[in-house]
Amino acid sequence: MRYISTRGQAPARDFPGVLLAGLAEDGGLFVPETWPSLSASDLRALRGLPYAELASRVLHLFVGTAIPAETLAAICRQAYAGFGHPAVAPLVQLDAALWTQELFHGPTLAFKDMAMQVLARLFDHVLAAQDRRASIIAATSGDTGSAAIEACAGRERLSIVVLHPRGRTSEVQRRQMTTVRAGNVANIAVEGSFDDCQDLVKAMFADAPFRQELGLAAVNSINWARIAAKIPYYVAAAIALGAPDREVAFSVPTGNFGNVLSAWAARRMGVPIAWLIVGSNRNDILSRFLTANDMSVRPVEPSLSPSMDIQVSSNFERLLFELLDRDAAATAATMAGFRSSGRMAVPEAAWHRARGLFHGFTLDDAGTLAEIRRLYRDGGYLADPHTAIGIAAARALPCPHGLPTIAAATAHPAKFPDAMRQATGITPPLPPRLADLYERTESFTVAPADLGQIEAAMRAHARRNAA
Ligand SMILES: *Cc1c(COP(=O)(O)O)cnc(C)c1O
Repeated sequence: MRYISTRGQAPARDFPGVLLAGLAEDGGLFVPETWPSLSASDLRALRGLPYAELASRVLHLFVGTAIPAETLAAICRQAYAGFGHPAVAPLVQLDAALWTQELFHGPTLAFKDMAMQVLARLFDHVLAAQDRRASIIAATSGDTGSAAIEACAGRERLSIVVLHPRGRTSEVQRRQMTTVRAGNVANIAVEGSFDDCQDLVKAMFADAPFRQELGLAAVNSINWARIAAKIPYYVAAAIALGAPDREVAFSVPTGNFGNVLSAWAARRMGVPIAWLIVGSNRNDILSRFLTANDMSVRPVEPSLSPSMDIQVSSNFERLLFELLDRDAAATAATMAGFRSSGRMAVPEAAWHRARGLFHGFTLDDAGTLAEIRRLYRDGGYLADPHTAIGIAAARALPCPHGLPTIAAATAHPAKFPDAMRQATGITPPLPPRLADLYERTESFTVAPADLGQIEAAMRAHARRNAA
């Protein structure tokens, strides 16, 4: 299995190559050279398998011969062994034709664990095979950092440093990052905004000698392996509700377009997905694109669903490449235009193709609270603000023919206690394994948003960890 860049100017790589590289050298994103397929009989053969087994069989199509099938199966088993639900990603029926798929039973209570737990183990395996080490650097506004830390803690070949904007993440999110006790984990609270953190990470990757010296690697959602590792749960949900003999629909609360891109990929591979709904909060660039071909960047506004407070959905480039019939030159030109003007010029024909499949829906904070309240009142279901947007979207844009619709439940309600209390009067308890989170000791250093100081801290940490 080989991967090419959406911008066409980087050499093709195998799976370990794209895992370690993250971004392609030409600034593009890696995509499979050809999409693997799942036929009707392939889908039938996956019925009834434990989730980890299904995941390893689907992932195998993307890994190819780079990792032996038994090793990949063991990686998936270990990745999902610590989840808080035996089904890993259970379906909960909310209505006659509406389900949620709970993707939040991992260690940090958000769907990012579904991919990150696999990703860190893949890194460890690939690095060991090449007798190398890597330093993961990540900037976070919340969920990504904690999922990455939980996944990387104690891994032999990795050290990880996470930058978060000081005082600007929720207390649950910060504690999930800063209370992990492992020698290979470091947290830095940066005196600045999330954008400052992201700029520092970009500057470190642009510092070639530093990047080389530390073996810098990234686990953000542009890494292809994260997209691949989320495809299995779309396959699993579709099969459970009748695929390949019946079509299904998905509704996904969206920020960086990573999660819903995995749903699109499952469809591209042959899973009968008839309808894809993209839910946004007031940062609605994707809905504006789908309704009016208006992909123009506006300032990010904070909302009750902070993991969707994004204006530039980096994974959209992968869909754009497909919408443009895999024309890498046109993709590169469109992305360059977007960067310089803040507005993406998507040709009419490509836009119509996108609209034929994706349906955008926007919900503001008041609507989100109302949906949380309604779900609790009508069925006793506690949906976090992100999940509530996806469910509201599925109700607002029901799939024709009443096909079964699955709304992705992306975070546990206990991660957002303030919004839940405001909407329902209830503070959802943390699951038992996290019940003492507020008593655990935190450890992090504070640093100014200064490249030299952050790089010095990274060096010291990597050296300690390698010793
Ligand atoms: C990251 C995240 C999202 C957005 O997912 P994307 O892949 O960025 O579209 C939605 N909900 C929660 C809880 C998240 O953590």
